[in-house]
Amino acid sequence: TPLVELRQVGKVYSLGERSITALQAVSLRIFSGEFVAIWGPSGSGKSTLCNLIGMLDVPSSGTVQILGQDVTMLSDGKRSDIRNKTIGFVFQSFNLIPVLSALENVMLPLQIAKIPTMQAKQLAKERLAEVGLAEHESQRPAKLSGGQQQRVAIARALVANPSLVIADEPTANLDSENAIKVIETMRELSQRNGTTFIFSTHDHRLLERVERQLQMCDGQIIEDRIAEPTESCR
Ligand code: ADP
Ligand code: ADP
Repeated sequence: TPLVELRQVGKVYSLGERSITALQAVSLRIFSGEFVAIWGPSGSGKSTLCNLIGMLDVPSSGTVQILGQDVTMLSDGKRSDIRNKTIGFVFQSFNLIPVLSALENVMLPLQIAKIPTMQAKQLAKERLAEVGLAEHESQRPAKLSGGQQQRVAIARALVANPSLVIADEPTANLDSENAIKVIETMRELSQRNGTTFIFSTHDHRLLERVERQLQMCDGQIIEDRIAEPTESCR
């Protein structure tokens, strides 16, 4: 079974009298362990696609299946149950809690899931070590670089062992050196632990070492490939 399967997915936003077609007839399958980039210019539908795969939103047409289950017709409550068990999120602006240390930020999802503190601490330490930040565990986010903050956020997204991590423009607020480091960190985690990562970016320079690239243009996947990117969206 594919981890994610979209069939003929469309998404239309309405803004008063106007409507905007953000996605058109998108079909795709993503299997467990894949490392996938969604690449395309601003406005091409990357965020919308991430939100649909992440069950944060529902399509206007077509179906979204997660591990073989059609999630488009579920109640909001049922959908968030599945989302919490299956998916970790990484955001453009890190979304760390400023008054908590790096370690406490990573522990948070486990504490919400009522995992005992000692165990949560141990698991969070392991994740921080995996993203190369063991020695920064007691620091607050403001003391860390943007790249380090994003790696804390990656550790947090992974701590509850999701099948899938979705990162919508995770490098948009980083310089290119930190951006590459963040992508490399995800790639290593994907290889080591078999976690599936899907990230979006408008920066084709980040695609060099990404095995699968979904290129978007005007709400469609115009190419799904395992190769070098082409230069422009046409
Ligand atoms: P990207 O992530 O590639 O920048 P988006 O998925 O954010 O693309 O946007 C795709 C299109 O849908 C754009 O035209 C955008 O303006 C529009 N759009 C995105 N979100 C909304 C929304 N909540 N309401 C109305 N239009 C939206
Ligand atoms: P991105 O390019 O990363 O998708 P945007 O700046 O396009 O970011 O969008 C930021 C937020 O605003 C998103 O939640 C998106 O859904 C929403 N949005 C984007 N375009 C529109 C729009 N035309 N009208 C209303 N909301 C929008």
